[in-house]
Amino acid sequence: MLVANVANAVQHELPKLPYAPDALQPYMSRETLEYHYGKHHRGYVDKLNELVKGTDYADAPLETIVRSSSGRVFNNAAQVWNHNFFWRCLTPDGDTAPSRDVARLIAKVFGSVNEFKQAFKAKALEKFGSGWTWLVRTQDHRLLLLNTDDAENPLKFGAAALLACDVWEHAYYIDYRNDRAKYLDAYCHVLNWRFVEETLAQ
Ligand code: FE
Repeated sequence: MLVANVANAVQHELPKLPYAPDALQPYMSRETLEYHYGKHHRGYVDKLNELVKGTDYADAPLETIVRSSSGRVFNNAAQVWNHNFFWRCLTPDGDTAPSRDVARLIAKVFGSVNEFKQAFKAKALEKFGSGWTWLVRTQDHRLLLLNTDDAENPLKFGAAALLACDVWEHAYYIDYRNDRAKYLDAYCHVLNWRFVEETLAQ
């Protein structure tokens, strides 16, 4: 989200959460969201604004920065983009089912929606250290599971992000300590299939 200011630079903003900070309980606590959204995500936004000030990136949209930058600018820009995307992958409406068309598409690649969830969790569990697990669509229209390190994301690989799970410890340490598997089970309970339908339609 961008707001032009008088100096023609753009200020990156923390987007509003699409639900209340306690809406994902008991799967993700209010405290987790207060830290993860309110401190970590906000921190990336603030840092990005500080880093791009007075540089060639000062008036560039977020996606342009993610696609063309490196180093600290990339790390913060990509983390802003990743978190903007991540919150939309979750819903307080609970374990909804995908539409029939999306379920069919998922089943074609993964066997069934349930097998997709198992495969997604297994992929996220095998990620060593900080990073992200994604469902992506490649340029040749294949659906794939992808793990990325640190702030890396599918934009860098020319793939479209369809679903993301943050597997940095800051995403689950308050609620699940070091138990990533429990966090992934919780994630599946609040997975937003309506959002996946939207990303698939783009
Ligand atoms: Fe995070």
